[in-house]
Amino acid sequence: ASLFAAVEMAPRDPILGLNEQFNADPNPNKVNLGVGVYYDDNGKLPLLKCVAAAEKQMLEAPKARGYLPIDGIAAYDKAVQGLVFGADSGAVKAGRIATVQGLGGTGGLKVGADFLKKVDPNAKVLISDPSWENHRALFEAAGFPVATYPYYDAAKRGIDFEGMLAALEAASARTIVVLHACCHNPTGYDLTLEQWKQVIETVKTRNLVPFLDMAYQGFGEGIAEDGAVIGLFMDAGLDIFVSTSFSKSFSLYGERVGALSVVAASKEEAERVLSQLKRVIRTNYSNPPIHGAQVVATVLTTPELRKQWEQELAEMRVRIKQMRTTLVEKLQAAGIRQDMSFITQQKGMFSYSGLTKEQMQRLRSEFGVYGVDSGRICVAALNSKNIDYVVDAVAKVS
Ligand code: PMP
Repeated sequence: ASLFAAVEMAPRDPILGLNEQFNADPNPNKVNLGVGVYYDDNGKLPLLKCVAAAEKQMLEAPKARGYLPIDGIAAYDKAVQGLVFGADSGAVKAGRIATVQGLGGTGGLKVGADFLKKVDPNAKVLISDPSWENHRALFEAAGFPVATYPYYDAAKRGIDFEGMLAALEAASARTIVVLHACCHNPTGYDLTLEQWKQVIETVKTRNLVPFLDMAYQGFGEGIAEDGAVIGLFMDAGLDIFVSTSFSKSFSLYGERVGALSVVAASKEEAERVLSQLKRVIRTNYSNPPIHGAQVVATVLTTPELRKQWEQELAEMRVRIKQMRTTLVEKLQAAGIRQDMSFITQQKGMFSYSGLTKEQMQRLRSEFGVYGVDSGRICVAALNSKNIDYVVDAVAKVS
């Protein structure tokens, strides 16, 4: 028999499956709100001007492509640290943070997970309920048992904070807790700074290992505002893991630009951690690619380009917020009696709309409006041209 005779078909990725269905739909008015990407008001994936400018510079002085160091471009890793921990961070200055370039945020998470498996093979992992669907798969693939802590409270249209804290209180020491630093995917609900302080207190007293996934820095309230939670963990003296993604904030999805930062107790400890992170990378893909990270490093370290990036990121953030407000107003105007203002309290690209699975399915089959069965819609895929159609469709299934 063939070597693969007993190989089972892996389950389809639910979101990619939705995209295939969308592409095959002949409805000329169809709208894809199932995606996890930012589109501009013309429904197009943006190429940021700062990115094009950096690429132009790079093209004008073309360089040979040798191997990068295992941990990536040094200037890039340094720029990531500045962004995540702040330019004046004492831990950065003290050399207590090991940062490696990664293949997107996913790559950062995976390198962190593989490293943690070596450090503490018997640890358990807790992710939020619900969470980005790849968190569970990724940590399970790294060999960890993965359970959840309560997060979304459908009845309350918000966070089950008591449930979350209770789960953290009950976790055994050294449990790895995956937290969304900002713009929670899929719900859009973030903790307040007060709530974060309570989480940090619990993480500290229970001796848990916090792994902050920062895939949307700058999409919530601003670069510094969204990064503030990292500062709180640092102030508490905790050793944290932070994965960074520039897929959204630079609209560089396909370049796979991200990072992993691990905070250690001392410079000497950080050096040992870095050596092990490099081993994980070396045995997986040897060393990272150049292009995307060079673009990001160039933008972050060139003052005019950095300023332009901050403006372009702010434009994306403001447009999403505008879409949230407009959506709520138009739903109200369309006669939906239920208070939908929770949509404007959510942060980032996504919204748990509160629509049921049946409503989501009707939106798809009757109107060609594609969202996830959970009720998750991508607000960043709404625009001034498709919003009326979407609102009309939602009103008709409500
Ligand atoms: N974490 C979260 C919460 C995400 O939503 C995503 C991407 N949608 C990622 C990580 C992965 O990002 P990347 O595409 O950079 O690997």
